[in-house]
Amino acid sequence: MNLIILGPPGAGKGTQCERLVETFGLVQLSTGDMLRAEVTSGSELGKKAKILIDAGNLVPDDLIIAMISSQIDRPSTENGFILDGFPRTTAQANALHKMLSEKSLKIDHVIQLAVDEEIIVSRLSGRFSCAKCHAGYHDIFKKPNKDGICDKCGAQEFLRRSDDKPETVRSRLRAYREQTAPILPFYDEKGVLKVVDGMGSMEDVYNTVREIILNG
Ligand code: ADP
Ligand code: ADP
Ligand code: ZN
Repeated sequence: MNLIILGPPGAGKGTQCERLVETFGLVQLSTGDMLRAEVTSGSELGKKAKILIDAGNLVPDDLIIAMISSQIDRPSTENGFILDGFPRTTAQANALHKMLSEKSLKIDHVIQLAVDEEIIVSRLSGRFSCAKCHAGYHDIFKKPNKDGICDKCGAQEFLRRSDDKPETVRSRLRAYREQTAPILPFYDEKGVLKVVDGMGSMEDVYNTVREIILNG
């Protein structure tokens, strides 16, 4: 089972992926996480990417496509993968399509998490994650069971993303509207697009996604 999870920043892609990885043994391939790892490592790609990420702009297609192709080839994806944050442009969607047919792979479902723009800022302004295991949290909607301690791994250090501030979120939303939303009709025509209401609780959204995976 190979999935794409699509939606604006803050739609809940990472949150749903965490559950899907645990339940279905899928590998999450998040281009955002890969880029942040490059930024932390201080690589040339990371230096270039940081400027674009902090401005809320997309990183060039050729860099992203090369990065994801090598990840799909890894043996750990044999149970299937979830693409999180990729593809984000028509060029990326076309490149993915070509790459998968060369590898005799296909996408089973494209899950679009639909959320209104007003709630996105509140979701992103409260977002933080575990510095060690990357589990996602929220100041109001998903606090750790014990304040300051990660539920999953017990770490006590958390991170907030520099691009989650409202000024940057506005640019990211524009990028989503102008560059990412136009790829949805491509998947709709292929009959694989499933639109899910992303405004409900994490649990409700998860149950809907799970149902799609189990019963199509
Ligand atoms: P979110 O899940 O909140 O939308 P991501 O972690 O997916 O954010 O992405 C953070 C930033 O990384 C994006 O704003 C963009 O600059 C860059 N990025 C991530 N994935 C891609 C991609 N597929 N193409 C271009 N840029 C990307
Ligand atoms: P994305 O990966 O699409 O950018 P995240 O999964 O990181 O989004 O979610 C953004 C923030 O909103 C996180 O802090 C997360 O805990 C919270 N969140 C995710 N889904 C929901 C939901 N259904 N209801 C309320 N808050 C949510
Ligand atoms: Zn943790």
